[in-house]
Amino acid sequence: RRRILTGLQPSGQLHLGNYCGAIQPLLGLQEAAAAGERKLFVFVASYHALTSVADPAVLRANCRRVVIDYLAFGLDPAKINLYLQQDVPAVTELAWLLACVCPKAAMDRAVAYKEKVDRGAKPSLGLFTYPVLQAADILGVRPDAVPVGADQTQNVEYARDLAGRFNRTYGDVFKVPELLVRADGGTLPGVDGEKMSKSYGNTIDPFMDEKPLRKRIMKIKTDSADPAVAKDPEASAVFRIFSQIAGADDLRTLALADRYRASGEAGMGYGEAKQALFELVMDHFGPARARRAEILRDDALVDGVLREGAAAANAVLAGVMDDARRACGLR
Ligand code: ATP
Ligand code: MG
Repeated sequence: RRRILTGLQPSGQLHLGNYCGAIQPLLGLQEAAAAGERKLFVFVASYHALTSVADPAVLRANCRRVVIDYLAFGLDPAKINLYLQQDVPAVTELAWLLACVCPKAAMDRAVAYKEKVDRGAKPSLGLFTYPVLQAADILGVRPDAVPVGADQTQNVEYARDLAGRFNRTYGDVFKVPELLVRADGGTLPGVDGEKMSKSYGNTIDPFMDEKPLRKRIMKIKTDSADPAVAKDPEASAVFRIFSQIAGADDLRTLALADRYRASGEAGMGYGEAKQALFELVMDHFGPARARRAEILRDDALVDGVLREGAAAANAVLAGVMDDARRACGLR
């Protein structure tokens, strides 16, 4: 069985776009794993978050919330090692070893750094060397594969490159992991029709209370087409969200598409489509919402999951670091 590693941003607030683009695929990987094997390593990138969050209370709360939400969505601690990056501090030592074989010019080519600074991020050294720390997260657990979204491929290429540089300099220590680029399931639109993104303030949070959730869904932007006019479902944000959550081939999706195409007396108004989406969200996330309410009442459960996850990651890191230190003469 293959060992797989993936990271989570402690952004605090997850939305339907994150669910469709990142969480659903992760649940798919988990499904393929056998219980008790725990070959999946999932960490919350808390050190990385320091490059953008300066408020300790916010950082703590965001890390906690992302763990709770992922567990609620169905991440199964029997199959996954879930841990906070700060509970595996050896990754920072490994980042140093990797930084020493990393040409500065390679970091100068990082596109994410430029993009983030252009959007107002502080140009700290931490932000600049972000890919090196990410390489350490990856290489430290010797994964066979790293699944990422298309926007993240450069960072995993850095990890592969640094593994190669270290191995060529000091001998074979790191496994060069395979890059698994997630099939682009299409971008989920937000309430304004643009890409759903927390920085655009156009998100829908499936864990909202029922009333505000319904209100939020009713706010999704639509054109002013008359109910009597047939509509193109694919041109509608309401339909596209519905289809990505339920699945394009799901009977409910096909039925809704038929309603869009109906005209005349039998035609559909957008209020009907939004109500259908609201009911779908309540239904689809019903189990997750119930689980979340339980998890919120059980701090010890979350602590236990994180403790076990960190223990598993630390155990792997200990062996890798031993090899790495020995290889470069620190032992
Ligand atoms: P930010 O506005 O800070 O970029 P975000 O809301 O776009 O935040 P990210 O943290 O960038 O969220 O993304 C987390 C994961 O969710 C990534 O794997 C990304 O590909 C996926 N994702 C984010 N938004 C969408 C979306 N609208 N549709 C599909 N996938 C998405
Ligand atoms: Mg984004």
